[in-house]
Amino acid sequence: MASLSLQQIGKTYGAQTAVEALDLDIADREFTVLVGPSGCGKSTTLRMIAGLENISSGRLFIDGKDVTQAPPQERDIAMVFQSYALYPHMTAYMNMAFGLMKTTRLDKREIDVRVREAASILHIEDLLLRKPNELSGGQRQRVAIGRALVRKPKVFLFDEPLSNLDAKLRNHMRAELKRLHAELGLTVVYVTHDQVEAMTLGTRIAVMAAGRLQQFDTPMTVYRRPANTFVASFIGAPEMNLLRCRHSRAAEGVVIDGASFTITLDGFTPPPAGIEILLGIRPEELFLAPENTLPDGQLMARATVGRVELLGADALAEVNLGHHRLVARVSAEQLPHPGQQVALGIDTRRARLFDPVSGYAHP
Ligand code: ADP
Repeated sequence: MASLSLQQIGKTYGAQTAVEALDLDIADREFTVLVGPSGCGKSTTLRMIAGLENISSGRLFIDGKDVTQAPPQERDIAMVFQSYALYPHMTAYMNMAFGLMKTTRLDKREIDVRVREAASILHIEDLLLRKPNELSGGQRQRVAIGRALVRKPKVFLFDEPLSNLDAKLRNHMRAELKRLHAELGLTVVYVTHDQVEAMTLGTRIAVMAAGRLQQFDTPMTVYRRPANTFVASFIGAPEMNLLRCRHSRAAEGVVIDGASFTITLDGFTPPPAGIEILLGIRPEELFLAPENTLPDGQLMARATVGRVELLGADALAEVNLGHHRLVARVSAEQLPHPGQQVALGIDTRRARLFDPVSGYAHP
């Protein structure tokens, strides 16, 4: 296994910049997820790591070795594609063995050992003689992963590998990938546009937008301390509530004035008083109560419930607080009804503040 270092990596297609000055240091055995909306440069980044795309600027190191110009076969990397890219006329066994026969000097017996070992890890021992059209989507995906495993590469690259599977199978394969990573100690770079996949799989998540890295950190930090409003909105469903407020300083901290409510936050270094600020609150950090019965210091104001969407164990309630419209995650046991007057509380310990112009979080 190996470490990976992207230093100021950029990619341009003519006048268009697909990836700009990307810095990523990935440690041995890390599971790094590149996540972001379509067109943000995730696949281009992955293809530059694989050597399938020239790097326009910057340098790429694998295990400390500069491979910026190295052809794919010299990088010791294996890639699993969304489309699986299996040979239709070959059995699952041959799909896994073929690359080793062509590109290594391993003898037939050793190749056989590797294929059977990978098949056992992936639970596809019984399917080795089938051709791709005799396999389900999930089974094909396993063969494609097996083909990468038998090569024992330094780094595994995955490009949206689960997006062709139905929801149930996707959850299952996600758990399988997590198990493989933990059991085999793989170094993985994984591309997805799905923030749930990113949160559940990544040891660290690199959030990208418009070719630029927005934040690179653990899933919990990205969720709890988003670096900017883009990350705050992209990670988490429903997205973080962002309320435009004024603020001032007081001995107890920053006083946030939202016209229809006032709260005091400590632990922030805000910009000069008077300038507008965005108050960020996750839906689960809001509390509803029918009467003014909220715990000490958590009452914001009276609010009116709008649309309510039942999800199962919990529900999403739209809440109108003065001119602000928020979404709160509430228990299905205490479902509010549209039009109901409630007391709205907020867990201020997790609140975030952002600059409305630059979008950056205030420390
Ligand atoms: P993602 O994987 O995040 O959806 P991509 O890396 O595929 O995004 O693309 C990033 C940007 O680069 C997009 O704007 C896309 O249109 C552009 N792009 C990708 N490949 C090419 C290409 N071969 N020629 C021109 N532009 C490209």
